[in-house]
Amino acid sequence: MKGSERIKVKRLPARGAYDRDTIYAILDEAFICHVGFAVDGQPYVIPTGYARIDDHLYIHGSSASRMLRTLSEGVDVCVTVTLVDGLVLARSAFHHSINYRSVVVLGKAELVANREEKERALEAFTEHIIPGRWPEIRWPNELELKATSVLKLPIEEASAKIRTGDPKDDDEDYAMNVWAGVLPISETIGRPIPDSRLGNGIAIPPHITSYPRKK
Ligand SMILES: Cc1cc2nc3c(=O)[nH]c(=O)nc-3n(C[C@H](O)[C@H](O)[C@H](O)COP(=O)(O)OP(=O)(O)OC[C@H]3O[C@@H](n4cnc5c(N)ncnc54)[C@H](O)[C@@H]3O)c2cc1C
Repeated sequence: MKGSERIKVKRLPARGAYDRDTIYAILDEAFICHVGFAVDGQPYVIPTGYARIDDHLYIHGSSASRMLRTLSEGVDVCVTVTLVDGLVLARSAFHHSINYRSVVVLGKAELVANREEKERALEAFTEHIIPGRWPEIRWPNELELKATSVLKLPIEEASAKIRTGDPKDDDEDYAMNVWAGVLPISETIGRPIPDSRLGNGIAIPPHITSYPRKK
């Protein structure tokens, strides 16, 4: 990982981490990122799905998408990923916080032209969000592949920032008669809703009934 000044966590630097294990664990658990880039001086931050293969983040979308077209020109990009683990309820308003794990990746993306790599990225994208789905579905045909752009961003300049644990109140506030602690927040998966056009007798597959999300 490239150790650059611009990815150093400045506020509460002890919460910063720069090792691949920490960064990849966060990237592999989340599946939505926010992609920041500027067009003619106007910043845009667009939410989108992603997958990681080795040391690259892949995003995909319509070949006509402004985001994908702009990024494929090699402009500077900033991708952020956030996982929220809990609300941190302190005794003072000031020390209320959130337990989170987040990642920022800086760099330049490039268009994936190689067909095999493109197909591998589309598979990774599906499998990252719904493990076990890819072998059961129809894979993209020529037209669909043409209509889809895949971009990859090297994970070379990246940081993680993580907050865990109790609130950190001022010493004099610990005597207050106010409940303090953490309200954990986690993802819950609802019951599957069958498509209104689902054929008779098609059972819900195990990759849906035992959908884990967390790897
Ligand atoms: C959870 C999630 C996952 C997504 N996954 C993908 C994905 O994998 N691939 C993909 O191509 N797209 C994905 N999208 C949609 C993505 O956010 C863009 O809408 C899409 O890429 C179209 O981009 P564009 O270049 O056509 O839009 P632009 O031309 O960049 O958009 C023009 C304007 O439309 C508005 N706009 C565009 N998108 C949004 C938005 N999401 N919310 C509010 N306003 C918006 C903004 O004001 C923007 O300036 C996802 C969105 C969400 C919320």
